[in-house]
Amino acid sequence: MEIKKKDVRALTKEQLRDFFEGQGDKPFRGNQVYEWLWQKGAHSFDIMTNLSKITRDMLEANFVINHIKVDLMQRSSDGTIKNAVRLHDDLVVESVLIPTKTRTTACVSSQVGCSLDCRFCATSRLKRMRNLNPDEIYDQVVAIDNESRLYFDRPLSNIVFMGMGEPLMNYKNVIKAIDMITSPEGLGMSPKRIIVSTSGVPKLIKRMADEEVRFKLAVSLHSAIDEIRTSIMPFNATFTLSDLRESLIYWYEKTKSRITYEYVVWKGINDKKKDVDALVDFCRFAPSKVNLIEYNPIDDGEFQQASNATIDMYVETLEKNGITVTVRRSRGKDIDAACGQLANKS
Ligand code: SAH
Repeated sequence: MEIKKKDVRALTKEQLRDFFEGQGDKPFRGNQVYEWLWQKGAHSFDIMTNLSKITRDMLEANFVINHIKVDLMQRSSDGTIKNAVRLHDDLVVESVLIPTKTRTTACVSSQVGCSLDCRFCATSRLKRMRNLNPDEIYDQVVAIDNESRLYFDRPLSNIVFMGMGEPLMNYKNVIKAIDMITSPEGLGMSPKRIIVSTSGVPKLIKRMADEEVRFKLAVSLHSAIDEIRTSIMPFNATFTLSDLRESLIYWYEKTKSRITYEYVVWKGINDKKKDVDALVDFCRFAPSKVNLIEYNPIDDGEFQQASNATIDMYVETLEKNGITVTVRRSRGKDIDAACGQLANKS
């Protein structure tokens, strides 16, 4: 029987040092390998030229380096790029590069499929297959950073965890990936340029606050009325708005970091005055801003974006109450790369 070799990037630096020590070699070799793997993005042991051939062969005999493969790159007419990312076990996730005049943002996936069941989201139609490993999340970022340099002549500037999956349902691996992305031993990016977007898992929002994470938090709210939110995001029956509210108060007390609420306004679902009023109330307990996002249809029109007049009503009411609001246009719609469209066709 063939022995399954371990993915070397599942090891911490300390574990790599211990491994070398166990082999009767210098622990420092562990640091060298670690640097090759993360900072230099090595895909094979062979290119680790500061190690002897014997050491490289020994690594080869013990480990594999699982790295992602960008299978298919699609470019939208607005410059957005979507990557179909093949994992070592042949599952596929998607990530997106979103360019603006001044920024390049990577929108990355955290799970294959999703464990939640938001009725308006294409990803929820796939069942959750598995969590992504830290290196699989990290590699998506590296791939987009490379594309940004190649096509836009500048490095990646921002990262949003708004691709496939619910990041907090893959808590440990997402945190590990962000640690590597922000570490000088990895990509050295500022955590302030990273947004983790969640449907809202109160216990884990509190845990992030306790761990004093330094990235930003976005919550996909879509309704501040339990009954309505549960009808479009059924897990809200378990993770109710009052628990969510309490966890967000806790988050703000600990981090002093303003929360962004993502919100789509749909015809006949949350387009009434009472919906905006509930949103205004929800925004009061912690500094926050509202991002009204455009709905990207995923099917036969069960959900329809509200009229411009309704959006204007939201904007006016929020502004009148001193709440910052932005209206976000979708990017990459023609290649199914916009919010909620990932996995629509693949
Ligand atoms: N699970 C996480 C991150 C993935 S979804 C979360 O829920 O936040 C990223 C964002 O896209 C969320 O705000 C989500 O509510 C939104 N979204 C999902 N489907 C959409 C659609 N069809 N049109 C517009 N936005 C959508």
